[in-house]
Amino acid sequence: HNAVVTAILASGAYVNSGLRIAELADATHELLRSFLPAEASVQNPVDMIASANEKDYRRALETVLDDDGVDLALVINVTPLLSDPRDILTEVAEVARDGGLDKPVLAVMMATEEFYEEVSRQERLPPVYGFPESAARAMALLCRYAAWRRRPVDEAPPVFEVDDDTVREILDGYEGKTGDGSAKDDDGGVYLSPDDAFRVLGAYDIPCVGGRVAGDREEALELARELGFPVVAKAVSSTLVHKSDVGAVRVELGDEEELAAALDDMEAAVRAAGHDNEGFLLQEMAQGGHEVIFGISTDPRFGPLLMFGLGGKYVEVFKDVRFGVTPLHRQEAEDMVRGIRGVKLLEGVRGEPPADVDILVEVLLRLAQLAQRHSRIRELDINPFLAAADRRQAKALDVRIQVGRPVDRPAE
Ligand code: ADP
Ligand code: MG
Repeated sequence: HNAVVTAILASGAYVNSGLRIAELADATHELLRSFLPAEASVQNPVDMIASANEKDYRRALETVLDDDGVDLALVINVTPLLSDPRDILTEVAEVARDGGLDKPVLAVMMATEEFYEEVSRQERLPPVYGFPESAARAMALLCRYAAWRRRPVDEAPPVFEVDDDTVREILDGYEGKTGDGSAKDDDGGVYLSPDDAFRVLGAYDIPCVGGRVAGDREEALELARELGFPVVAKAVSSTLVHKSDVGAVRVELGDEEELAAALDDMEAAVRAAGHDNEGFLLQEMAQGGHEVIFGISTDPRFGPLLMFGLGGKYVEVFKDVRFGVTPLHRQEAEDMVRGIRGVKLLEGVRGEPPADVDILVEVLLRLAQLAQRHSRIRELDINPFLAAADRRQAKALDVRIQVGRPVDRPAE
């Protein structure tokens, strides 16, 4: 038996699961001692030795589960020659049922194929595994699930004072419009203009870089003087999704001459890529920080899914993102932000000051509220959002919003 228990102890599933071998109370030791043979070990893992029958299994399991220090039990039977595993499992199942769901019981029975076929058809049995490793993995997952159930959720998700009327008005403006009919959005999703997309964020007090769309070159030059050099210029086209892929984003343009040349280049590049040029987005040049991504994706059946991760060009490279669903609690938003593998980057490497994580958590919570209240928003991507040490420097540099039909969902 010890070989089996050792296998469980040695398996990686046990080590990384947060499981601990319970230390049994003295009273439990005594009780076990009272009915088990002298050669049995009453220390955990309890070893009843090969002579144990189904009644011994029942009593031992009852005794162990009664111990306050025990949260779950694993019954292992490896001697099918001496006792019928069916009888043992029947007793174990009864004890497990008496305990309800408070203390899960799992079993490892080293038995024949027919036995497993038989138990798989039977209801109300504890889960039975053929190998200790599988049982250990299941126990680890049970513990993770238990921890998730225990997470603090008494505190309701925060509710922010926002300008929902403005959002509604903007989205109304796209009512009845249909998208470009690309294969993916077969029910006519349509993208908001950059100005409208940034206005939606503004209505939810999500910080954005200064700027707006200019209709032509003259207006772009004028706007740049207003914003102050250096500026960033991006070509606008409703069919163009990844602007920098076609050379439609130019940063750090130092003066009018550079800007004018960049506008020419971009216009030609966009046309060469097969898109219509519909103007230029002029923005202030943001400095420093780390690029992160926020996303909303709304499934007609499941509702909004929120995403956070490392952004900019790293999204595709590292795919380091975390997901959450609404209603999103503060703790969950925090776990999303701090749960990415690259969180060390945000915390600051080599003496860099750490990014303000609170603002990232808040943006995520505000987006959750936006997604919940405006189900017409089918997809939203802020990429990049600049995470910075100084919260005044934290802002969205690029946002894309796709709207579709509103989704019927029960109020949350
Ligand atoms: P797209 O995602 O369509 O390629 P973006 O607007 O995200 O275009 O710009 C691409 C990259 O350019 C960003 O990841 C960022 O590094 C940089 N960038 C964009 N806007 C600004 C800005 N206002 N200030 C500084 N850098 C910017
Ligand atoms: Mg982008």
